[in-house]
Amino acid sequence: MGFKSKARKKRNAAHGSSSEKKSKDIEFEGTVKCDIKDCNNWADKKVGGRKMAYDRAVDVWGSSAFPRKTKKVSLCKTHYRVWKKEKKGEPKEWE
Ligand SMILES: [Zn+2]
Repeated sequence: MGFKSKARKKRNAAHGSSSEKKSKDIEFEGTVKCDIKDCNNWADKKVGGRKMAYDRAVDVWGSSAFPRKTKKVSLCKTHYRVWKKEKKGEPKEWE
């Protein structure tokens, strides 16, 4: 009657399929802030932010919306959309 010697089980550190979460913009921490005064959104490219000439933005919100004057302002996705709406410019694809 032989005992079955149990082979030592080596635990394979199975890196199973690490479920990649698709990044939603929850607590996204960016580096560029929307330049519009009361806006706290990020204007990083990653989250759909845009830069545009100061004058073009002032056209829509007025210079008072921009505490600091720069040649280019950063807009968050939301504000960029607003801007597009206001300008009714040529429609560009928006993803
Ligand atoms: Zn904004």
